[in-house]
Amino acid sequence: MNNLDHWIGRKIGLPHFTARELEAYQFDRFQNTLERARKMSQYYQKKLVGLSVESLRKMKDIEKLPLTNQMDLKTSPMEFLAVSQQQVKKIVTLNSSGTTGSAKRIFFSEADLNLTVDFFENGMGVFTEPGDRVLVLLPGKTPASIGDLLKKALKRLGAESVIYGVVDDSKRVSEIILKEKITGVVGIPQQVFLLSQEKEATAIKVAGNLRTVLLSTDYVSPSISRRIRENWSVEVFEHYGSTEMGYGGGVFCGAKKGYHMREADLYVEIVDPLTQKSLPDGKMGEVVFTTLTREAMPLIRYRTGDYGRFLKEDCDCQTGLKTLERIKNRVENRIFVENGQDFYLSELEDLIFDKFPISDFYVGLSSDDLNQKVIEMDVVFDKKLDERNKRGVLCEMEAQLEGMAEKKMGRARKMFKICEGQALEVDTKGIRKRSIRDRRKENE
Ligand SMILES: [Zn+2]
Repeated sequence: MNNLDHWIGRKIGLPHFTARELEAYQFDRFQNTLERARKMSQYYQKKLVGLSVESLRKMKDIEKLPLTNQMDLKTSPMEFLAVSQQQVKKIVTLNSSGTTGSAKRIFFSEADLNLTVDFFENGMGVFTEPGDRVLVLLPGKTPASIGDLLKKALKRLGAESVIYGVVDDSKRVSEIILKEKITGVVGIPQQVFLLSQEKEATAIKVAGNLRTVLLSTDYVSPSISRRIRENWSVEVFEHYGSTEMGYGGGVFCGAKKGYHMREADLYVEIVDPLTQKSLPDGKMGEVVFTTLTREAMPLIRYRTGDYGRFLKEDCDCQTGLKTLERIKNRVENRIFVENGQDFYLSELEDLIFDKFPISDFYVGLSSDDLNQKVIEMDVVFDKKLDERNKRGVLCEMEAQLEGMAEKKMGRARKMFKICEGQALEVDTKGIRKRSIRDRRKENE
């Protein structure tokens, strides 16, 4: 059994639960959530008016309920609040990149924060042992920040933690890994990747203390994950979750085929975005979740904008939980080109990090002389790359990207403009995710 199974088994009072028993527990918590949401949250009072609760007899009936859109949370976050303001212990404000200025606000009560620590303890417990020394490269200065909650969770596991925060100096962090005999690193994929590219990587490998890496908060391309694994000779695990889920959602097991979710706290569906109905395991759709235990801010059928599917087959780790396949595409990471032909950042990452000595890149959308869309890319070369080889890398990369575009569009036209760029300053307050900038608007 997986570590999460033991935890969930304790929560539902059945050490060896079946899928049916887990579902019965989820349905009970769901009814509770629904009742609370309709009583306490203005948003759901309005949204679910006239709902016949009697028509909900099993978990699957949840698909009779409407979806909750991220935009609703941006427009009126306060309407989602289901406790008094005095009971709110933490508010996270999520500014979306470059939009209207509205921001999502996520509320946590004391009980909600405790549940997060619980999940961190049991999720980290999948690959962390007592006596381990874990370096946390996520914000951790303020109380109840991710780093602070992780520290509490690691302490419960008998592990030491060093909370550094977002990486501002790769060399310094590399030295800390060596000096502090760090055994595990938790961080943002792109940042951990850059760190593993530093020249200290060899010394870290030789020292042999560092065993595990957990990547969190952003999409991870398989090629980034592979390069970290090779650079440091470590096992790489991935976390999937969001602040809306209560900071945590699910985590890889040793089989690394996908995430096992905290199913006693979240009911996760894969939904057909058109019909809004749940899809069977194996089918791709949008990840939608319902909180089962959240106090301050219950969310019902909340659209994540992530695309994925549950795997049909059982996982090698003998878990009783489902396996959510690694998330590949997010709506916000889609680059619209023409005639419904889209590019995803993940496709670009996979191709670029798999084949080329590139450590980072930035994407912008602009137009050519004929007013057709062009994808502009500024790439940052690996430090080790010789100056005179750069031209060749750029040419080869352009050829491969144009090849990919031609296949997609069914015809050839110059689609990419690639230049050498500079690494951006790290915003140590926030967490930079790779995003698409629309330069056509900026130039107007
Ligand atoms: Zn597993």
